[in-house]
Amino acid sequence: MELQVQPKLIIHGGAGSSLHGKGGLEAVRRSLHTVIEEVYSLLLCGATASQAVVHGCQMLEDNPRFNAGTGSVLQSDGQIRMSASLMDGALGRFSGVINISRVKNPIELAQFLQNSPDRVLSDFGSAELAREMQLPSYNALTDLRLQEWIQERQDNFKSAMAGVVAEPELVETSNAGRGTIGVVALDASGRLAAGTSTGGKGFERIGRVSDSAMPAGNYATSNAGVSCTGIGEDIIDECLAPRIVVRVTDGISLKEAMQRSFREAHQNKRDLGAIALDASGAIAWGKTSEILLAAYHNGEKIGDTLEWTGNELIGYC
Ligand code: ASP
Repeated sequence: MELQVQPKLIIHGGAGSSLHGKGGLEAVRRSLHTVIEEVYSLLLCGATASQAVVHGCQMLEDNPRFNAGTGSVLQSDGQIRMSASLMDGALGRFSGVINISRVKNPIELAQFLQNSPDRVLSDFGSAELAREMQLPSYNALTDLRLQEWIQERQDNFKSAMAGVVAEPELVETSNAGRGTIGVVALDASGRLAAGTSTGGKGFERIGRVSDSAMPAGNYATSNAGVSCTGIGEDIIDECLAPRIVVRVTDGISLKEAMQRSFREAHQNKRDLGAIALDASGAIAWGKTSEILLAAYHNGEKIGDTLEWTGNELIGYC
């Protein structure tokens, strides 16, 4: 297949405090690189940006390590409620589901809603849609997340959020961290798309709405695409994803748009991270938190941010 544009891909598995131990880091690296390899080869075979994003989100949702789909964190009442969204940049179209339970891949519902006149559904409507789509009932609960919740309940839900990844050793230690997964792709025809999926912050009040199914946390146009992670309230207050995308649309480079947006987020004492691509193929990532679990394919090779713990707020290539 002749490529009009060199495809680009970036994914994340959350942001937060450092992964305790090298074992955790290597396992996360393997998980992220496997997704990059498979999704990048789809892009090389002509998959659209949206198709690639949905496939990448499904793979990450199916990995119990990350806080989305299987392995989602539990809310304060011990239930899993997941949120996901997809934005097709070429169509300029956002769709998503909020606080859905008992499905395997929330991103599939977001994908379905791309072609619906009603594009964002909350809990009850999402459950109805899952029934209409004849999706089998699925229990996303893992033992590790259950243990984490039981421990938090004993501590009276002191943590701001659940662990960034589910690892046995992390359940034993203090693990205030973040979760969520996201994928941003630029396909061979130059189209962009972004997808984000989450189990939420963990231990939150029933009915709390995550940024992951809002444009604030997931946004793409024909100019740029961004997926965010971190404390949803901070992401919403910064309106982070559109803030970066609009800057790029106004002619600022992706690097500079990220730099300005993360400088502001840092000044405002936010706790968050984001991955981004623009239509020229620039790749960027940023964080105000300690770590960002991101990996990318720049057309030549795979890279990741797992050992990026410095004070710089952004990175790019
Ligand atoms: N942003 C997600 C939320 O607040 C959580 C995360 O990214 O870890 O629901």
